[in-house]
Amino acid sequence: MSTTDNNNTVDTFITRNNASLIDRFGRHINYLRISVTDRCDFRCVYCMAEDMQFVPRSQLLTLEEVVRIGKTFVDLGVRKIRITGGEPLTRKNVMYVFDKLGALEGLEDFTITTNGTQLQRYAAALRDAGVTRINVSLDSLLPQRFRHITRVGDLHKVLAGIDSALAQGFRKIKLNAVVLKHKNHDEVIDLLEFARNRGMDISYIEEMPLGLIEEHNRAYAYYSSDEILNDLRTRYELVPTTENTGGPSRYYRMPDSDTRVGFISPHSHNFCSQCNRVRLTAEGRLLLCLGQEHSVDLRHVVRSHPIEDEPLQQAIIKAMDIKPEGHDFDLTSRPVIFRHMNVTGG
Ligand code: SAM
Repeated sequence: MSTTDNNNTVDTFITRNNASLIDRFGRHINYLRISVTDRCDFRCVYCMAEDMQFVPRSQLLTLEEVVRIGKTFVDLGVRKIRITGGEPLTRKNVMYVFDKLGALEGLEDFTITTNGTQLQRYAAALRDAGVTRINVSLDSLLPQRFRHITRVGDLHKVLAGIDSALAQGFRKIKLNAVVLKHKNHDEVIDLLEFARNRGMDISYIEEMPLGLIEEHNRAYAYYSSDEILNDLRTRYELVPTTENTGGPSRYYRMPDSDTRVGFISPHSHNFCSQCNRVRLTAEGRLLLCLGQEHSVDLRHVVRSHPIEDEPLQQAIIKAMDIKPEGHDFDLTSRPVIFRHMNVTGG
């Protein structure tokens, strides 16, 4: 088949499918999260075990393969891509991915989740690449506690990274805080005040039972979104909204601030029925649900078909058939998902 014929076939194929990914439950998949590395410069106690085995670099998707898969998703109707990890900004030459994906026509929302340690170096380049929003993970404003939760992290470096992103003109910065009882639940108001003072949004996350960790008992550390909301309401007036940024957060607004307060509540307010996301691991495994193991090996597909795009498109469209209805997170038993969060990213 000539290249032209091949392109025609692909175009017909996309048109036939209305460039739209729909799963068995009628959910439109328009959001891809790409983990570019499972490595991280932190070892957050809820995310990783202290001694982690990382994927050998030889098994990672190349940066070109990451871009090729991302572009194919956009051709199939995906409008939002988040780059995550591990710590995405620790992958060598990662700006190649941002530059290429950021230039794609059709991509409306291009975001990154980062721990902030490399933002002083990368904030300007991310802005130039077309990144629209930055999520920075921040669980504590107390240096000692921050070090304890991250095992190795330097809070001041992260705060300097946030300042750099603000200085580069990013107006859509969101803090993500995983809230654990008796570790940082007493800081939920301080974290919101910090966000409000800088015009940033904040989302509070209930810990998910992904991977074995030895540092704390997840059932004991559970602090629900409703408890956080009650704590916040002792200080602020919080009004529920129907706003949505395409992710799992439920948002509240305050009358005296532009800051949005989000809650990601996998336990107390299940969001699976609205799931619009799939995830690509750094090894090229397309995971259809964060809390299940259903997946397709896209690395094998791209390496078997280095030129033709149709097999990759078909593999992605077909993968929608195995997207599960939802996760089965249970904090009281051993995790059923042995993959730690750093493998898939948040
Ligand atoms: N390194 C980047 C960062 O720190 O944001 C991106 C990867 S990190 C795995 C993405 C997000 O997942 C972070 O906000 C982190 O706090 C969150 N996270 C990690 N493990 C989690 C867990 N078990 N439950 C809920 N959130 C988790």
